[in-house]
Amino acid sequence: MSTPALLICLFLTAGQDELIPVGQENWEKPWVPDLRKPDAKIDIPLNKRIDVLILGDGYLASERADFEKEVREWYDRFLTYTPWSQFRGAFRVRGYWTASEGRATPERKSVYQLPATTTGVGDVSQPKLADAVFAALDKAGVNRAAARSRLSHAVPVLLVRNEQVRNPSGLTRLLTSSDAKASVSVAFAAYTHHEFGHAYGGLRDEYINLTGGKAPPRSGGKPNLFTLSNVTSTKDPAQLAWSHLLPGGALNPAKESVIGLLWIGGGGEEGFWHSEVRCLMNGTHDNWDLQKSKRGINLRDMNRFCFWCEELMVARTLQKTGRLGDSEDGETLWKKWTDEFRPLYQKSFDVAGRLRAKNEENAKAKLAEAKIYEQPGKN
Ligand SMILES: [Zn+2]
Repeated sequence: MSTPALLICLFLTAGQDELIPVGQENWEKPWVPDLRKPDAKIDIPLNKRIDVLILGDGYLASERADFEKEVREWYDRFLTYTPWSQFRGAFRVRGYWTASEGRATPERKSVYQLPATTTGVGDVSQPKLADAVFAALDKAGVNRAAARSRLSHAVPVLLVRNEQVRNPSGLTRLLTSSDAKASVSVAFAAYTHHEFGHAYGGLRDEYINLTGGKAPPRSGGKPNLFTLSNVTSTKDPAQLAWSHLLPGGALNPAKESVIGLLWIGGGGEEGFWHSEVRCLMNGTHDNWDLQKSKRGINLRDMNRFCFWCEELMVARTLQKTGRLGDSEDGETLWKKWTDEFRPLYQKSFDVAGRLRAKNEENAKAKLAEAKIYEQPGKN
């Protein structure tokens, strides 16, 4: 073998070693569930597949096996969530291994140079960090589909090892390459499935981040697939995007249900509401307990999204995978979703049945007696 050929061969082998595919049988030939037929699949083109690239910062050369194990655990956990499990055919999930010289600390000896501390990932706005993430995305050959230069089909997830060899508290940020040609939403550190809800699903925090924090003025307009939120600043049922989940309606006829009511908090405390007491997008921070007697209560449901977050992610995943058509107009897309696809989703995912089961659980937990929700339409 000639020297150049040998070098190419070595390079290719090294490249393959760096990538750790997980669940390849699910996504190699990508598909989404056919909402019209139980268990049937609809093939989607490769350029509509979503890439999840799991990166490791602060892992030493001897810790590749640990990283690989954590990538597999991340994927196993990912598959426990509705709707990611049902849409597993649309997500190509791979780890991308790079050894670090040191842990992720403010000395910046790790490969992505995250200045992590014992509690958090630190300032993630360093250009070197963004460029290292983009270099990894390039090497892994992720789907570069973009909307206004923001990658729409690639989500980097960064697992971190700080000085304590722990994944510190996480966050999600939009990183822009130093040539300003592309940006991408990145999920950092601990609870990356919650962070993935931000980075992939465009969902917001449902906890109270700041005591007394207030909602900004409302913006009107028609509902838009790209901007609809899991938190609301309206109490008007006619304006409420999740009004179809409200108790007493066709989907959720139980009048005593507390699903869809206005549970306080969504980043700020005042003038923000979300649709269920617990959700993976909730957390701790300044949350009230159910009786509104003390703060700092964890309202994260580690095992599920609320029904409204779930619906937003189903709609967005169908859009990304091309099932809602070619329109790029978010209002047109949302209309298509509500007119045509939402009823199919509700049937296929047995939303009514699962609402009934959740109502029973909530009744046992006496959630109706909680003091941290309001009724839509009341001042
Ligand atoms: Zn939610």
